[in-house]
Amino acid sequence: MNTPPLFALLAPIVGLFGAIFGSFLNVCIARWPKDESVIRPRSRCPGCGGLIAWYDNIPVVSWLVLRARCRTCGERISVQYPLVEAATAALWIGALWLLGPTLVALRLALVATILLGVAITDAQSYLIPDGFTISGLVIAGVGAIAGAFLGEQLPFVGPWNALLGACTGAGAITIVGWLGEVAMKKEAMGYGDATLMAFVGATVGPVRALLCIMVGSVLAVAAFVVIYPFGRFRAWRAGRDYSTPLVPFGVFLAPAAILTLLFGNALLQWYAEWALG
Ligand SMILES: [Zn+2]
Repeated sequence: MNTPPLFALLAPIVGLFGAIFGSFLNVCIARWPKDESVIRPRSRCPGCGGLIAWYDNIPVVSWLVLRARCRTCGERISVQYPLVEAATAALWIGALWLLGPTLVALRLALVATILLGVAITDAQSYLIPDGFTISGLVIAGVGAIAGAFLGEQLPFVGPWNALLGACTGAGAITIVGWLGEVAMKKEAMGYGDATLMAFVGATVGPVRALLCIMVGSVLAVAAFVVIYPFGRFRAWRAGRDYSTPLVPFGVFLAPAAILTLLFGNALLQWYAEWALG
């Protein structure tokens, strides 16, 4: 965004919206893996069961004021809550900074918020709830149609490529999972990865959907190479058997999706020029 005064004016407002969305994202992260509604009931303290008042539910601020404890019973409140709120606010301000006060910036902010939720939920429970991927698919579809009318689409794709991307993403990850299962003789990939790639494919289109799976795989393998010997060594020292850890692929596909959305076209163009001279 090349107009600093406008950015300085809008950043606090956009950051506030981001923090509010982050607060809702916390509810989704906590409830969707347990198949609970994110609308009702209102949030209660897991310690005393008391309803949480609005003034104790202000993003980041309340956690700091309450010093990470419930006002009534003193039960600890996880640092994950303010961290997710602050991270979402940062993502929204980042989208404004990159794309200015536009519809594509709003689409980027929403997509990044959903991907953050996917990464955290997959890391914590090895689940990618439909709530995330269905909302993502809807936002991608509605965004593509609205973008076509406004003539404002990049870095996203238009409606036709969104459709092709959803099918390509879900199809390609299913093939990868199937081959992985045959090779490792055990379940390699959850259904959630296919729904995630349908959503990602609808935002980046078919070509970058394939690129996203490649980037995600590289990130996953890199993390595995670091974590595997460490876990193996700890098990050996404790005299335990070591079973290969389950890889929550969504944790790596989520950042890969953002990287591919923002830099995928430049990377593909660079590759085409390099490969074809
Ligand atoms: Zn309490």
